[in-house]
Amino acid sequence: MKKDILSMDYNELEESVLALGEKKFRAGQIFEWLHKHKVQDFNQMTNLSAQFRTVLNEYFYIYSLKIVKKLVSGLDNTVKYLYKLNDGAVVEAVVINYKHGNSLCISTQVGCKMGCRFCASTIAGFERNLTAGEMLSQLYTAESESGKKISNIVLMGIGEPLDNYDNVTRFLDILSSEDGHDFSLRNVALSTCGKIDKIHELAKKRYGLSLSISLHAPSDELRRQLMPIANNYKISELIEACKMYFEITGRRITFEYALIDGMNDSIECADELASILSGFPNHINLIPINKIDERDYMPSSKDRAAAFKNRLEQGGMSVTIRRTLGADIDAACGQLRKEYRTEDIN
Ligand code: SAH
Repeated sequence: MKKDILSMDYNELEESVLALGEKKFRAGQIFEWLHKHKVQDFNQMTNLSAQFRTVLNEYFYIYSLKIVKKLVSGLDNTVKYLYKLNDGAVVEAVVINYKHGNSLCISTQVGCKMGCRFCASTIAGFERNLTAGEMLSQLYTAESESGKKISNIVLMGIGEPLDNYDNVTRFLDILSSEDGHDFSLRNVALSTCGKIDKIHELAKKRYGLSLSISLHAPSDELRRQLMPIANNYKISELIEACKMYFEITGRRITFEYALIDGMNDSIECADELASILSGFPNHINLIPINKIDERDYMPSSKDRAAAFKNRLEQGGMSVTIRRTLGADIDAACGQLRKEYRTEDIN
């Protein structure tokens, strides 16, 4: 069976090149073709002999995914791609235009196991982890198709990145390699529902990426109603891990908090949130929850959201309310994949 060359790191490529009887430096040339020039065919690697290109083609393949749907927002140019993977599974990626550049939100798994009550990605079920090549390919395809340079990457699409730790860290290693795409990991954000053991491991990698924690509730009791992961870890433990992450990396933590009408948006909740998050550098990102068909959760009104934000600010917290982008094409995270699967099944 042919091997996925896009998922191989530099060292592995070197070993393979040597095993095929070629000089070590050929690995650098191949890595550059794959991750700098993003070629899709070994025959385009013109500084390799025709014979070696044929050998490469025998042992390896270059991963590429297909765009099955592209939705462009008429409101703000946000572009959402539905990608089909080689085995027919589908995932989403979103390109968002900001003043300072373009940000790409990518998926890390096909579906999700975490079971957050408000999230469409988990309702459609978990199929499998994505490989590093499949994550890179979301970026390379979005850049070539849109013609836009991506300056920021957020691991906030479908899936829990820390539930696919090995492939995600492999992706980050290849992405940031100076011989390849050479992307600064300071421009990458990873969002997690809070797998604490992996937060510890990630901190030790000293990648310099920023960490977002999907908190969504100020108490364990309320969090357990929304997120099954809260049965495994206490908020106090999660905050300890975040403090450690900050101490090791110097990166301020962002806490994501989806405001749900009548559930977690009271002034008491704001006070509780300020009390648990004060005393270390962080930022709170309030998100009016996206309504999904399967659940009754409704977004907080503008007034309630503003009151919640004000209360946190009075408590000395740094807070923003996230702008809704691509509202006309969106549907919540994972919704597009779920709809596609429903169309498929019907
Ligand atoms: N599994 C990771 C990353 C993917 S979800 C995590 O949990 O962080 C990306 C973000 O979208 C998370 O903060 C998640 O809680 C949030 N999210 C999921 N469904 C949502 C919805 N319906 N409305 C608002 N935010 C949602």
